[in-house]
Amino acid sequence: MRATVMYKAGDVRIENVPDATIVNPTDAIVRVTRACICGSDLWPYKDLPPTESGRPMGHEAIGVVEAVGREVRRVKVGDPVVMPFAYSDGVCEFCHAGLQTACVHGGFFGIGKVGGAQAEAVRVPLADGTLYPVPHGNDEELMPSLLTLSDVMGTGHHAAVVARVDRGKKAAIIGDGAVGLCGIIAAKRLGAEQIILLGRHPDRIALAREFGATDIVSVRGEEAVERVRELTGGFGVHSVLECVGTGEAMQTAIGIARPGSAIGRVGVPHYDAIPQAQPMFFGNIVVGGGPAPVRAYIEELLPDVLEGHIEPGRVFDRVIGLDGVPDGYRAMNEREAIKVMIKF
Ligand SMILES: [Zn+2]
Repeated sequence: MRATVMYKAGDVRIENVPDATIVNPTDAIVRVTRACICGSDLWPYKDLPPTESGRPMGHEAIGVVEAVGREVRRVKVGDPVVMPFAYSDGVCEFCHAGLQTACVHGGFFGIGKVGGAQAEAVRVPLADGTLYPVPHGNDEELMPSLLTLSDVMGTGHHAAVVARVDRGKKAAIIGDGAVGLCGIIAAKRLGAEQIILLGRHPDRIALAREFGATDIVSVRGEEAVERVRELTGGFGVHSVLECVGTGEAMQTAIGIARPGSAIGRVGVPHYDAIPQAQPMFFGNIVVGGGPAPVRAYIEELLPDVLEGHIEPGRVFDRVIGLDGVPDGYRAMNEREAIKVMIKF
């Protein structure tokens, strides 16, 4: 089968690799119908050291179950499924608590012996706990939005939940990538009254407004902090969704967080320590977040997708075939595309 392999920063190739096959009796094989390139794939695209064996890429997909191991009960051959970016057993105490990304038997796609999703097929460990069979999963119109439930929509929602977005409150979203844009959808869905996007790209800002952003702040650093404070009566927001992962973004997050507020961070942190310890302390500001348990959120978000109340699939502004993946990475890295979908 063909799959995406990254050999070093900027070096993404489509290669023939051994077919995905059942290894453990709890595995399923999913034939991928849609996959995509993630903002987090751009970190190795910028800084992966040369590797001889290469790294399989991709962790977001929807597809159809092609085979199941002998212990798989809940998922059947032919089921259209969403594949969350982390696999999980669904039965340990963290899975029961709705934190599948901390599953004691879990892990992430594209790491270790588990392949990536930017491929014709993928082996899914712990299929019963991981995969979410979806009704209307073969509906072409719905596919882009269903695909976002494997990561970006669930991740934006997680940022909003951790940041305690609530009815009538003020929220700010840092980052205008696909996760930040989905964070706007989530903040609106949870009832935020004022939704401020900190972002700079005109195409993304236009979409942000359609998703529900009420204000846009395009300056950065101290200037951004001042501007958000002006927009919020001087105090800052109740909820910050930090969807970037840089130290600068976290610095801004704390700067715009009002006393007693919460920051939900979902961008993989590329800093050693959270800055602004004292303002954070004296403001009683909560910082939380991490890899989103998107498997837990599908239940809640799916009806809104099926009924068309939310359309997170609109973050995809480019559709390519598998051969177009290397150029897709380039386009996302150069901010030419918001999010690239791979159609099989
Ligand atoms: Zn578990």
